[in-house]
Amino acid sequence: MSSEISRRKFAGFVGATLGASAFPSWLRAVPRAVPRTAAAPAASTDWIRLSSNENPYPLSARALEALNRASRAASRYPDEVEDEARAAIAKSHGVPVEQVVLGCGSSDILHMADAAFLPPGKTVVAAEPTFEAVLLHARVTNSEAVKVPLTSDHRHDLDRMAAACDARTGLVYVCNPNNPTGTIVGGDELEAFFGRVPSSAVVLVDEAYHHFVENPRYRTAAGMIERFPNVVVARTFSKIYGMAGMRLGYGLASRANAEALSRQASWNNTNTAGLHIALAGLADPGLVPAQRRLLNDTRRWLCGELDRDGRGYIPSETNFVMIDVGRDVSPVILAFREKKIQVGRKFPSLSNWLRVSIGTREETTAFLAALRDIVPARAVA
Ligand code: PLP
Repeated sequence: MSSEISRRKFAGFVGATLGASAFPSWLRAVPRAVPRTAAAPAASTDWIRLSSNENPYPLSARALEALNRASRAASRYPDEVEDEARAAIAKSHGVPVEQVVLGCGSSDILHMADAAFLPPGKTVVAAEPTFEAVLLHARVTNSEAVKVPLTSDHRHDLDRMAAACDARTGLVYVCNPNNPTGTIVGGDELEAFFGRVPSSAVVLVDEAYHHFVENPRYRTAAGMIERFPNVVVARTFSKIYGMAGMRLGYGLASRANAEALSRQASWNNTNTAGLHIALAGLADPGLVPAQRRLLNDTRRWLCGELDRDGRGYIPSETNFVMIDVGRDVSPVILAFREKKIQVGRKFPSLSNWLRVSIGTREETTAFLAALRDIVPARAVA
């Protein structure tokens, strides 16, 4: 697909050429989104929402200007601004535009990857626990999931994941940093791992929390695609860019894999508002460092307080932290709800751990006070 051909025109061309029936039903059946913590009145101002790892801060003045510009183009399909956003993303990564695929959030990219790289009979290898979207979508493709437990320090066990790959492996999912643990695998480890995965399998590296990482061992896999063309990287504007409600993410891949992903995309799967705001964000060199400083400083402050209490937690490279509550987390989550604080859901393989997203300093202070009340420090120390 040339860069001049918009996805809408391309999809129209494919549809006209092949006809909808050319797509097997397992590709057309779209699974529902990943379940979130049981619905709370999130829009309600008296709830504190620390459950979905969103950025709690409002859009910048520049972003609001972009939203205003977008409103003037709202009656038109977003073809031109999609092209502009793809070009800006490509430029930011130093890759040709053909290697960028846009998605309705990065969840859409994960879904496209399942549909593209898990034909019947192929399996998916993933860590346990990790972000579930890929595994949930894989149920639609009836693909067997091979789950590899994290290491004792809650990181991807890349040795065991590589050993779990065979000729049946279609997709390997690496969430780096990992949700829900906030841990990373280093760039050198990742590169060595790519060398061990069969080239017939696609390795999908989900970098939703990339921008929060300060650990020098970490490297994005985006720069490794040239050497390992079976690597696909997913990124999102939902986290540090504070655009979760605008639904925009993207995939970076070899030309062949980008084309394979694009074939699974629905027409114009992005929206004019999100694209304009993303363009403003990409053009603002101060945005990412400022948000990173703000949220990481609050995370460091929270972790300092957890240390003072003598609580266990998993050192995090992200805008969320897993805290040991020393007992089943389900009633703890409910107790937070009674205080109108929405925290992360239970992860069955880490059933005594509570995931909390980093909010504003005020929200995080309120969370800590509630934690001290619900789970007194001496109960876990
Ligand atoms: N990947 C990871 C690891 C996530 O934690 C999330 C959201 O929480 C996503 C992807 C999906 O984000 P979005 O679809 O908003 O881009």
